[in-house]
Amino acid sequence: MFRRSLRRFVHEQFVPQQSRWRAQHGPDARSWIDAGRAGLLLPDLPANYGGGGGTYAHQAVVLEELAQAGIHFGCSVQGVVAQYLRAYGSEEQKQKWLPPMARGELVASIAMTEPGAGSDLLGIRTSARRDGGVYVINGSKTFITNGQHAALVCLAARTGQGSAGSRGFSLIMVETGDLGGYRVGKPLEKVGMHGQDTCELFFDDVRVPGGNLLGAAEGNGFAQMMEQLPYERLSIGVLAVAAAERAVAITTRHVRDRAAFGKPLMDLQNTRFKLAECKTQAHIGRVFMDDCIERFIAGSLDEASTAMAKYWLTECQCRVIDECVQLHGGYGYMTEYPIARMWADSRVQRIYGGTNEVMKELIACSL
Ligand SMILES: Cc1cc2nc3c(=O)[nH]c(=O)nc-3n(C[C@H](O)[C@H](O)[C@H](O)COP(=O)(O)OP(=O)(O)OC[C@H]3O[C@@H](n4cnc5c(N)ncnc54)[C@H](O)[C@@H]3O)c2cc1C
Repeated sequence: MFRRSLRRFVHEQFVPQQSRWRAQHGPDARSWIDAGRAGLLLPDLPANYGGGGGTYAHQAVVLEELAQAGIHFGCSVQGVVAQYLRAYGSEEQKQKWLPPMARGELVASIAMTEPGAGSDLLGIRTSARRDGGVYVINGSKTFITNGQHAALVCLAARTGQGSAGSRGFSLIMVETGDLGGYRVGKPLEKVGMHGQDTCELFFDDVRVPGGNLLGAAEGNGFAQMMEQLPYERLSIGVLAVAAAERAVAITTRHVRDRAAFGKPLMDLQNTRFKLAECKTQAHIGRVFMDDCIERFIAGSLDEASTAMAKYWLTECQCRVIDECVQLHGGYGYMTEYPIARMWADSRVQRIYGGTNEVMKELIACSL
């Protein structure tokens, strides 16, 4: 029932707006409120914080329905920030921010990456210096999803001295409305995912209440990020499987409809074999992902399996979609065709959320 109602909402409310979202490099503020009303935001958060009261399975349904409709909407990042608040926020922080996030009135982003620190988060330079009851923040972040609309930024900043190592970082919740010294850059020009905004954020002597620290004490930011990154990586895997399945479905329709040498492309053995290979890969991905979701809900999904899901499923997505572009011929290179956009959109899946090379390092640690 949840999937059916979401599917109707996505097709009636979001699909018709896609070309406009792409042109303006992001969704409208209004769409967040609509998403909140439809139950699309934070379905896996307890109801007493305004969430849907479900499990990660509900979040997976949301991500799948969006991916099946070819929509990129930052609700996954909204969910990630909610997980940080749920795990480390004080009761006051949870009551203040989670209900408006679930209603779509408050859009959140997570800001870790900097021009000089991506995979190597220990290189973060953005600093938060304690000055009486406030933090004074200086630095910049890049590639931040939801940056344009975000009124709440979960910021990774250096609170300790250089010698503090991984204990030198903290997460600080920054409310950006009318905040002096805070600036959002123009949406970045990406290769794909044009309908989702990605920005740079700048902090110039930004003053934030000391009570916005996430967790009981400074110095836990790095450990908190390492603990919560699996949630984000699992979600990337969910999107990957749904996209691979969608690619097989739309390509199957295309090769049935289009003819060459007097017969449908589907009658060519190469077409059937390639699609059979793609369908098999997508199905293997689905079975692995369902297993990961079950184990995640049971609290028994290990870091190596999450890294395997992120790495393998996104590689699978890119392989399948690339093959499907080939089966579309020249039409597969025209952005008017969904498969062309999927090809451009999919590439980043192997990069963000921790690159696939970093995933392999994590898997190797379990050997
Ligand atoms: C569209 C988009 C949205 C994003 N959204 C967000 C967001 O909302 N919030 C946020 O904080 N960040 C976000 N990011 C940033 C993303 O997480 C980083 O781009 C990613 O972690 C890689 O960091 P980097 O770009 O600095 O690449 P680098 O770290 O410079 O990596 C470059 C290459 O070196 C390789 N490499 C690095 N270290 C190792 C290693 N130890 N072993 C082997 N190879 C290695 C990498 O795998 C990669 O191939 C987003 C990025 C994009 C493109």
